[in-house]
Amino acid sequence: MNLVASPPTDSTIAIIGAKLIDGRGGPPANDACIVIRGDRIADVGKRTEITIPDGATVIDAAGKTVLPGFFDTHFHSRHSVEQPIKYELHHGITSFRDPGHPFKYYETLLSSNALIPRVFLCGGHLDAPPAVWPDQAEVITSNAEAKQAVASHVANGASAIKVYFRLPLEQIRATCNAAQQRNIPVTAHLELVDADDAIKAGVIGVEHITSFGTAIASDDLSERFKSIVSEDSAARREWRFRLWAQVQIENNPKVDDLIDLIVKREVFVSPTLAIFERRQGEKDATETEVTAFKNMMAFFKRCYQAGAKVVVGSHTAAPYASRGKAFLREAELMVQAGMEPIDVLTAATKNGAEFFGVGDRLGTIETGKLADLVIVDGDPTGAIKAIDRIADVMINGQWVPGLPNSVSQQ
Ligand SMILES: [Zn+2]
Repeated sequence: MNLVASPPTDSTIAIIGAKLIDGRGGPPANDACIVIRGDRIADVGKRTEITIPDGATVIDAAGKTVLPGFFDTHFHSRHSVEQPIKYELHHGITSFRDPGHPFKYYETLLSSNALIPRVFLCGGHLDAPPAVWPDQAEVITSNAEAKQAVASHVANGASAIKVYFRLPLEQIRATCNAAQQRNIPVTAHLELVDADDAIKAGVIGVEHITSFGTAIASDDLSERFKSIVSEDSAARREWRFRLWAQVQIENNPKVDDLIDLIVKREVFVSPTLAIFERRQGEKDATETEVTAFKNMMAFFKRCYQAGAKVVVGSHTAAPYASRGKAFLREAELMVQAGMEPIDVLTAATKNGAEFFGVGDRLGTIETGKLADLVIVDGDPTGAIKAIDRIADVMINGQWVPGLPNSVSQQ
């Protein structure tokens, strides 16, 4: 994680009158008061119970809702300073992770003086030859190389490791063992290794709902998919829709067993639903794609209902979202799939912080935590779309400049 600029330690801000969603999943509290001193949350509770310190800058946020800063678990950017600020920070995303791009893509951002989100990196994703994205991959041919790649990525600042879909199960296991020794998670994009095998090997995060496909498809279909995609990596784009169009979600023991495993191992599910969204009659979506997407949504709903740890990843851009709105679209699809808005908000905050290994200091609005906050107009537990009505964003106790309707400008 990068160093984020800090405000003067004696600065004190009190936000009063807003609805509070603290990220812990309970019902929102009305007429709250949040006191921020320096970069920390000094006090939080009902306005009537909190003493506002003398000299505090008081912000009246009546009619608004205060939430913890959002965590985007899947955001890619190359050499850009502008995108992470415009697409993420200005949309309330105070922390993001790039799951598997080389560190060099972030040098410009991390050396910039601009106020940027908290950036979490994995380094180049671990893949096997022929690597799918040769310029982005760390190519692994043995367990020893996997171990070495984990060590060097961590030394360079990785706070998670991403395994990519040509990496065989054996090397996924070696990667997970090496990462566990360093206490960092391994997250996976899968096509050729079944998700249950990868989870048993130690993978703790799964990127993309499609990564679960081969584990729940019929054996025949799964084998066919794997033989086609191992011949030609690009075939995954067409074939994962073909596979998902034929997957049976209900009354399928493979689905039940996989979901049990996901819940038992507390695997973080980062479904990136928005990139797979296909709507009937739009953007040349085929019948197969539309059916496949419905099944992805149904599988996701089952994961949620079973108590899986859901997190929100935008994948930067999505077919039915304008630039900067992919995270919102992902949250909307989660609600559409059957998730309660309050649970989507927990996924976007507390669960994200846990996935990033920073749940002790970020992800909820509690005394002593770092002050990353989002203030929106309205109440997102009524309509999730309210998370797009950003009034203000605070990162590390500092207001993010350049936002419209800024309460900090009062
Ligand atoms: Zn990605």
